[in-house]
Amino acid sequence: MSLVDLLIRQARQQPECAAVFSGTALHATYGQWAARSAGLAQGMRQAGLLPGDRVLLFMHNHPRYLEVLWAAWWAGLVVVPVNAKLHTREVEWIIDNAQARWAFVTRDVAPEPLAGLERQIDIESAEADILLAPMLDAFAVPVTPRELGDLAWLFYTSGTTGRPKGVMLTHRNLITMGLTYFVDVDPVANTDTIVYGAPMSHGAGLYAIPHVMAGARHVVPASGGVDPAELFALGQALGPLSTFAAPTIVKRLVDHAQDHGISVEDSAKSFKTIVYGGAPMYLADIQRALRVMGPCFVQIYGQGETPMVATALSRQQLADTLHPRYLERMASVGVAQTPVQVRVSNEQGQDVALGEVGEVLVKGDCVMAGYWRNPEASALAIRDGWLWTGDVGCLDGDGFLTLKDRSKDLIISGGSNIYPREVEEALLTLSGVDEVAVVGVPDPEWGEAVVAFVVLQAGTAVGQTELDEHCLAQIARFKRPKHYHLVDRLPKNNYGKVLKTDLREVASSALKLHKV
Ligand code: AMP
Repeated sequence: MSLVDLLIRQARQQPECAAVFSGTALHATYGQWAARSAGLAQGMRQAGLLPGDRVLLFMHNHPRYLEVLWAAWWAGLVVVPVNAKLHTREVEWIIDNAQARWAFVTRDVAPEPLAGLERQIDIESAEADILLAPMLDAFAVPVTPRELGDLAWLFYTSGTTGRPKGVMLTHRNLITMGLTYFVDVDPVANTDTIVYGAPMSHGAGLYAIPHVMAGARHVVPASGGVDPAELFALGQALGPLSTFAAPTIVKRLVDHAQDHGISVEDSAKSFKTIVYGGAPMYLADIQRALRVMGPCFVQIYGQGETPMVATALSRQQLADTLHPRYLERMASVGVAQTPVQVRVSNEQGQDVALGEVGEVLVKGDCVMAGYWRNPEASALAIRDGWLWTGDVGCLDGDGFLTLKDRSKDLIISGGSNIYPREVEEALLTLSGVDEVAVVGVPDPEWGEAVVAFVVLQAGTAVGQTELDEHCLAQIARFKRPKHYHLVDRLPKNNYGKVLKTDLREVASSALKLHKV
């Protein structure tokens, strides 16, 4: 059993059923998808690629992304989907580290040949058309046998501190992740439709797996990315969509609905389910999202090392407004997903008391096999079967996990721990504040000083004094920022995560300048 069987099942059971759309145009039925993936699998095998070899995907979202993924698994290969926004040098580092032999690219993302590859295929070229030519009898193309424990996907971490690491995800990891979706996130029918707005190299692409399991429809927007107007229209045309979106994308969708007077009822015609995760969703933001777009939201918390599966906050939990701890629950990341255990521990690996903050540990069949060719990092990350996530948080008595921050983002000022998220949540409740990111910078007197970067809503004017007074009214005096920077936007990576390392640099240089 391996991931390829999921596609073959659908191609046998419902070959004529629409499977992949490019915008509103049908790109492939399940039968055609399998026939093309089988053709490419055969071609890669004949060209000498061997089971376990790595094949890179360095492209914007594209209908052929799905065909390449399943072709690679058909031939027993390992896929390496890479963030399309990476610099050539960064990709070449990954090619070298993964020892990838082939890469599938789009011209916009990789206009020049990348170093270290045997073959680079432009997915929109005649060469790709030939490779993806459908087999007349797809089922006659042998599937390279794979064990559940074999490697399927090498997921490179974003590497904001040091070099990225290749997270080894097995067929078992990904099949478990797929099945868990139906229990902890959302049931899926074969008439459902997933749309890939966020990059397919990350969570959005991983969610192709449960949607193939369910024989559902897959849509790649014509723009290849997130254009709220396009997504709302696609939902109207093809039926309510499911999608994975980082909080920053959710915000754009909610803004669009609000600005265009789209009602909750009309939102529901465009979106069945929006799964959010990958970065903090602030209380004020999810409240507004529910108010504007209705109960289509589900939160997940995971990381590359336990993809999409650590905890989830369900649609029902988000709707349970009568619960006495409703607001705390809404600001949490929910409860452990079914196949994993989650605990919060101190540095020695002992559980901390309920409500106390420690590092989040996860154990179960979704946890990676380790880091690619990096036994030292693997041994640090997985101890006695428990993944040390590097996230800090606390559990309540009902099993709800509230994340504070990444441990490296924790600020220690005057000997006290300050969790940036708490300061961010406080500032976001001030009217006129759109986005906030809080970081710590070295400070001779306090060890670290709290610095806030604030984006205001268009057309509003909020001064530093107002921000400061608001903080003083909400949180302890020692937690309030010593400096505020009003900025037009926050730096974010392609997956919607705020680049706090960049902000720390900006804040430190601003301080130095100030002192000169
Ligand atoms: P990545 O490995 O790129 O998917 O990043 C995973 C990290 O994103 C986690 O370790 C968390 O720090 C953060 N993250 C993921 N999901 C959430 C969430 N629902 N809320 C807050 N942070 C999250």
